[in-house]
Amino acid sequence: TMRESYSSENDSGFKCLNPELRPIVIVGGNGQLGKLFNRLLTLSGYQVKVLGSQDWDRADEILHDAGMVIVSVPIHLTESVIAKLGNLPEDCLLADLTSVKSGPLQAMLEVHKGPVVGLHPMFGPDIPSLAKQVIVYCDGRNPESYQWLLEQFQIWGATLNRISAIEHDQGMTLIQALRHFTSFVYGVHLAEEDPKLEQLMSLSSPIYRLELAMVGRLFAQDAQLYGDIIMSAPQNIAMIKRFHQRFGEAIEMLDAQDKEAFKQAFGQVSGWFGDYAEHFLAESQGLLRQANDSTHR
Ligand code: NAD
Repeated sequence: TMRESYSSENDSGFKCLNPELRPIVIVGGNGQLGKLFNRLLTLSGYQVKVLGSQDWDRADEILHDAGMVIVSVPIHLTESVIAKLGNLPEDCLLADLTSVKSGPLQAMLEVHKGPVVGLHPMFGPDIPSLAKQVIVYCDGRNPESYQWLLEQFQIWGATLNRISAIEHDQGMTLIQALRHFTSFVYGVHLAEEDPKLEQLMSLSSPIYRLELAMVGRLFAQDAQLYGDIIMSAPQNIAMIKRFHQRFGEAIEMLDAQDKEAFKQAFGQVSGWFGDYAEHFLAESQGLLRQANDSTHR
């Protein structure tokens, strides 16, 4: 009846693209990101079970009829947890939400013979909705059997981005490891210098307030997660060391008061950015206008 379909739509919140799917098990489903996916999947009408850290003695019972298993445990435990999933139903979809992709994807392909997909939601648990958020995915095995999941993410509002695990991890070296590490060091530096934050803020232009917010927000989050992300790959540490070296070279320029060298390097970088430099200037102006509008609301 009209009434039934109205109320069931109300209860489920999102259209369910795979109503025949057997239960979904989220390993680590009581954690921050696991909880978010549990809520979204439940709102979409799927049956969701959690396999928490204390539940391994009941694992066979929880996993025996799984239609999909999502691994969402701390990064440093991910591969050892995946290694324990060798007994899933053959047609079960195995997925993970880990912020690094090569190691976990390899581990999933080794332990499970059925469909596999690696996922990296490019957001934390604090977002109000998935609108405009990106979910990166890495094909593992039998992509035709998880197109429904990718479409389900789009129904939630997410944008999808397909990439190989290796390219993902290379990109994350800059996008996550180096960026979080420079924020971390900037935070350490601020704490050591110990300025009055309130005064800094009152002296700040909106762009500096944004920078302060970018740095400060890191320290409202989980040290383990960010330590794991930064130290997850030797290439991250190698990249950070190259950055450190360039920092040192740039400081030599300062010690020598070499403004010519500064201008020359500046010109090289602006040439490298090319049209993007102007594009980023315009984009940041737009962001600042929005930030300004929302603080005055
Ligand atoms: P979290 O620490 O909040 O959650 C992890 C959960 O796993 C906890 O509930 C913990 O009790 C559980 N757990 C630990 N060991 C377990 C085991 N052996 N078996 C079953 N459960 C176990 O961490 P999180 O922030 O939700 O991160 C989970 C995953 O999501 C990580 O791979 C992380 O890279 C990824 N991720 C997190 C974010 C974020 O901003 N939080 C963003 C993108 C991706």
